[in-house]
Amino acid sequence: VEETVLTSHYTADVGQLAAGIAHEIRNPLTTVKGFIQLLKPYLLEIGKDQYAEIAIEEINRANDMIYEFLNASKPPQNKKTEISVNNLIQEMKLLFESEAHFKNMKLSVNICPDNPIFHGDAKQIKQVLINIIKNALEACESVHDQEGKINLKARTFNQKVFIIIEDNGPGMTEETIRQLFVPFYTTKEKGTGIGLSICRKIIEEHDGMINVHSNLPQGTVFEIELPLILD
Ligand code: ADP
Ligand code: MG
Repeated sequence: VEETVLTSHYTADVGQLAAGIAHEIRNPLTTVKGFIQLLKPYLLEIGKDQYAEIAIEEINRANDMIYEFLNASKPPQNKKTEISVNNLIQEMKLLFESEAHFKNMKLSVNICPDNPIFHGDAKQIKQVLINIIKNALEACESVHDQEGKINLKARTFNQKVFIIIEDNGPGMTEETIRQLFVPFYTTKEKGTGIGLSICRKIIEEHDGMINVHSNLPQGTVFEIELPLILD
């Protein structure tokens, strides 16, 4: 028992230190990005402005990574409340429908007649859905010869709620399915590979699970499973 206590203290301190470092790295990055932007016209004169583009993109990528990491390393806040799955799904629709429309994709939602409720930290749970829906949008974007379709729905079974995010993107290889949740694993040129590892951490802290099904090339299904509050 004592060992466990020691370990958890140690982890908290390292986590705090890492979050502090991440925060401090963002400031110099912002400065560097500003100066690169200033240099761009001069680089353009000698036909080397693509170096500035690349440098800025890489700084953006590092910033994204730090941002996602900072979100993940926040100590658990135990701000759990009762969350309505239908409200959550509606909120995601509001958040993403204009982006989907802009990208010529269809985002549809189905309300669950059981009106499932679970216990959770609303901010963290929203972060999970946002990460998974963003991935679905990016997956659909990578297929050009068809209309991207994303569907959000929920069902209940065995005192659990399943929140389901389906897309008709390119699907995933066995290799990707195996490594999906590994921190920094990405198949995208500008990916960070952090999103899903954070999702898994958050859902595990909620005593839940994330299941994934993919049939190349027919798209992907993410299923978030959480314990239901029964009335
Ligand atoms: P990132 O989005 O930065 O690559 P993630 O952790 O969010 O990192 O996702 C890891 C990888 O999982 C992605 O690079 C991609 O290969 C795969 N992936 C996730 N969601 C989907 C999806 N809906 N369709 C196809 N591949 C996906
Ligand atoms: Mg992602």
